[in-house]
Amino acid sequence: MVVGLDPQLMEILACPCPQHGKLSSGTAANPEADALTCATCGRSFPVVDGIPVLLLTEALPGTGPEPDQVDGGPGRRREPGSG
Ligand SMILES: [Zn+2]
Repeated sequence: MVVGLDPQLMEILACPCPQHGKLSSGTAANPEADALTCATCGRSFPVVDGIPVLLLTEALPGTGPEPDQVDGGPGRRREPGSG
């Protein structure tokens, strides 16, 4: 179901991220999802009973800016010595 929020409400709503990005209905993966997605940070927030839950802690998992690169990939190790 598409989020049926009041257009005027959409105008004043803003993402709680530091950039306060503009929100659009749906998610990147599902434009008809009951959620709002920030155009700036990419976080998606759930809409519960017609009320958008605009809390960074409630952002849908897997959305938003990519976290700082964590050390997990195969990296070359510098050889000790020779220096
Ligand atoms: Zn945002």
